[in-house]
Amino acid sequence: MNKEKLLRDIDEIVQSQKGKDSDGIVSLYNEISKKCMEYINFTGIGNETKTAHYLSMEFLMGRMIDSNLMAMGILEDTRRILEKHGWDRRCFEDIDDYALGNGGLGRLAACFLDSGATIGINLHGYGIRYKYGLFKQVFSEDGAQKEKEDDWQVFGDPWSVRREDEKEEIVFADASVMAVPYDMPVIGFGNKKINMLRLWQSEPSAGGTDLGISDFLYPDDSTDQGKTLRLRQQYFFAAASIRSIMKKYMKEHGDDVSCFSEFNQIQLNDTHPVIAITEMILVLMKEYGKTFDFAARTAGRCFNYTNHTVMPEALEKWDTVLLGGILPEHLAIARKLDRRLCRELSRAGEKRKARVNYRIMERDRLHMARLAVYVCGHVNGVSEIHTGILRDSLFRDWLKIYPGKLLNITNGITQRRWLDLCNPELFGLIASRIGEGFVRDLSLLKNIRPMIDEGFIDDFIKVKQARKRELAEYIAKKQGIVIDPSTVFDIHIKRIHEYKRQLLNIFSILYLYFEMKDGGLKDFRPTTFIFGGKAAAGYKRAKAIIKYINMAAGLINNDPVSNGRLRIVFVENYNVSYAEKLFPAADASVQISTAGTEASGTGNMKFMLNGAVTLGTMDGANIEIVERAGRENNYIFGADTDEINRIRESYDPLPLLLADKKLGRVVGTLSDGTFEDDDGSLGELYGALTEGASWHRPDHYFVLHDFRAFIECRLRLNMDTADERPFARKCINNSISAGEFSSDRAVRQYADKIWGITVNE
Ligand SMILES: *Cc1c(COP(=O)(O)O)cnc(C)c1O
Repeated sequence: MNKEKLLRDIDEIVQSQKGKDSDGIVSLYNEISKKCMEYINFTGIGNETKTAHYLSMEFLMGRMIDSNLMAMGILEDTRRILEKHGWDRRCFEDIDDYALGNGGLGRLAACFLDSGATIGINLHGYGIRYKYGLFKQVFSEDGAQKEKEDDWQVFGDPWSVRREDEKEEIVFADASVMAVPYDMPVIGFGNKKINMLRLWQSEPSAGGTDLGISDFLYPDDSTDQGKTLRLRQQYFFAAASIRSIMKKYMKEHGDDVSCFSEFNQIQLNDTHPVIAITEMILVLMKEYGKTFDFAARTAGRCFNYTNHTVMPEALEKWDTVLLGGILPEHLAIARKLDRRLCRELSRAGEKRKARVNYRIMERDRLHMARLAVYVCGHVNGVSEIHTGILRDSLFRDWLKIYPGKLLNITNGITQRRWLDLCNPELFGLIASRIGEGFVRDLSLLKNIRPMIDEGFIDDFIKVKQARKRELAEYIAKKQGIVIDPSTVFDIHIKRIHEYKRQLLNIFSILYLYFEMKDGGLKDFRPTTFIFGGKAAAGYKRAKAIIKYINMAAGLINNDPVSNGRLRIVFVENYNVSYAEKLFPAADASVQISTAGTEASGTGNMKFMLNGAVTLGTMDGANIEIVERAGRENNYIFGADTDEINRIRESYDPLPLLLADKKLGRVVGTLSDGTFEDDDGSLGELYGALTEGASWHRPDHYFVLHDFRAFIECRLRLNMDTADERPFARKCINNSISAGEFSSDRAVRQYADKIWGITVNE
């Protein structure tokens, strides 16, 4: 790539763009991106060497232009050119994210693609080109979440190439559609390797109708119609991907499929693409005349499955009537696999009764995780504790029969986006001591340990202050809310979910507020509590939690007693680009899920890398984070998994509520009229905590159980921030211990332990 020539072309583009309004920015964005596309020679991908294909319903890519320019080594030059011609060097912040995902699972897929291209292996992504990505969140007057559609294509899609000649017909029992691929380049850092993200768009086939398969991310699946659409989406992209992968193989190797798995490994990101397994079996049988056994064995050699959750309600099961209605042959293959499994179990000496724990066909439902565990060569968990739970409970029976299938690969994040791009000053500070090598090898971070002197601490404090000021400006610009960057920034950002316990956080803040009203907490260090995150549009309790937090913010921010000492901000429309502002500005990273519920978390790693202490429970990757960074440098509280398991059956929060008056007062605000509750949603939350519901006992997530421990820990953290330098040292210790949490390490482990791909950098 001729960098100088490209920069001259970019200069010309910027110079000739006259209108300096938002249309001008969109036009610059498109023209510069397209110019880059001309230079990177993204013509398509081959299959000469072993390739891994990452199938995922979600890719939460974020904004592409800055990261692509960075990978190509021209980000700073381009920003200088923009400035030279009178543009803001950050003008592309007005361009929307590629938000084709919900949260952690989709962001993980995006980080993995970046790492695969950077470490130089063939790793391609396959997903859906949703017309509307994750909704945009706005708050109404009363603090409730409203959803607005995310029409991201109005900004153009200059990074995609539509490949008309590689479209696939996707056939359902009752209809068929065309799947048209849009390929995006995944540019490895330093631009040595370019991989591909292939997103399929559904279009009517000749004479057919438009089923709207790729219209929306996560259609409302509370109705049968919505469920069917969701299943169509899964099959649509899984089948299109499998077919295109197989075609590419045939083109290069002829139709001897016996070597297929030596060239192709397929990673299933959760169970959403599991239907790809039965698709491959069917293609091998129907189009290549292979036997069922041969086809199933071939699938077993190339498919692998990553589990992301142990929550029973999130384990996918498809109703056989629904499935048989649109994909009858797949149902038949699943039944065949189920019978084959039963024969193997009986040979292994499993009693008939014990076999129900394994069955792929669970009476009238197809159990997707079991199908995956049965067929796949490897199954992995995403943190040590999560894999342990898979081993000891969810898949325990399976591992007796198929030992060695399960392995752990702890999640990771790309330091290119989550440090270099979002916090260049901290990146530069570290690089000033150990060089820039850690941009490709994060394990080098540890080399800085002996070089942490007083000067480094001073500089770290300055960088953190600058990030906090920037965040404050950004929030003021976006939401018109003023926050004080000299206060402690305590940040809780992630999807809103009961298990993630945003409720525990807001309860503790209300507690602090009531203490102040009662004249207490004289030494409390002024703190800004920042929340961010979206609730699924149909998840009533999560939406009630958002409204409650916003109403508590209204109360506390406007009371002279707490004014200047407690401030709550719920940032609107948390997404990847907002995240890039938030992670670098945190003093404390709030990671307080009920022990045993968060598979890994990756937000926790982004905070760590940017030098925040973790205020959290022993859950997910928090455990590994604290192990690396030192417990003394973090704030760990609450029940661990052993304790939760011990008390689960007998737990009753009512005595706690009665004995602890202050807790009672806080929880009471859900039902005592402190806040208006015209739709009864706060009352419903109160009921869930105190009485439970048809499907769970009171306080299912042990919020009240961990309440006191959380307050105590939070106050300790607050006190510690008074000693600025020792606290900064704790933050630094976290940042420089983050070496293992790079997605480069994670992808190397997938390559080495699962795909059998050699990484030679
Ligand atoms: C990292 C990230 C997540 C995942 O956060 P967790 O705290 O691990 O749940 C979700 N959304 C966005 C935008 C992210 O960047």
